[in-house]
Amino acid sequence: MKRWVAVALMVLANVALADEKEGWEVHDRKRPQPPVVTPGEPSTQEKAGKPPSDAIVLFDGGSLSNWKKEDGSEAKWKVENDYIETVKGTGNIQSKEEFGDVQVHVEWMTPKGTEGKDQHRGNSGVFLMGQYEMQVLDNRGSETYPDGTAGGAYGQYPPQANALREQGEWQTYDIVFHPPKYSAEGMKEPARVTAFVNGVLTLDDVKLLGPTQHAVLTSYPPTHPAKGPIGLQDHGAPVRFRNIWVRELKDAPVPPVKSSTEKH
Ligand code: MG
Repeated sequence: MKRWVAVALMVLANVALADEKEGWEVHDRKRPQPPVVTPGEPSTQEKAGKPPSDAIVLFDGGSLSNWKKEDGSEAKWKVENDYIETVKGTGNIQSKEEFGDVQVHVEWMTPKGTEGKDQHRGNSGVFLMGQYEMQVLDNRGSETYPDGTAGGAYGQYPPQANALREQGEWQTYDIVFHPPKYSAEGMKEPARVTAFVNGVLTLDDVKLLGPTQHAVLTSYPPTHPAKGPIGLQDHGAPVRFRNIWVRELKDAPVPPVKSSTEKH
């Protein structure tokens, strides 16, 4: 290869690398295509939805093999065909696998005929990293304190909408969670969460104040693990869950477009 050709190729390679680092042009055809992911089927009341193709499935019927109690022993919740149900007094359960930045999907239902009010009807929760609770509650037509209602971050942020369906109907929860970032000095950036209930935005990228606490203004501990399990709460109320999956969010956001000089 002639020397000038090699030099030209090196220059082009460096330009591509620089683009990747600094950002892309509008309509830039050189930037990588997004990965193809097959979307799941929409859920119905009769049938659980199907996870997207790159999801890690934590429960899709059959068994609790991906779950354990918080003390590590066997999870004791009831397994029915395509759902699991809390068993009062058996304790919270957690995924065996641990996650950091993550998208979480669960479907839940309070069985028809469940009685109680305030925090005592259909109370459960989805815990990110085992310590940040997104509330699950049957509070449709049943009043309780706003930061304890379904779709919100318990004790911190009420949901921006109450999008619950009737008792006895399946509800969907879709959550995006980013753990707090720590440096040697302590917490640098707080955890962030976005959530949808039944497809309706309930939390819009809010900054959490710290791990979930009851009746206490929380704050961040001096140190923090990088990953933790997905937890489901046994609050003594019957609640069912099905079609539970996560997608790990591994890639840093791509650089933004930076200019528009090419013709298209
Ligand atoms: Mg709860």
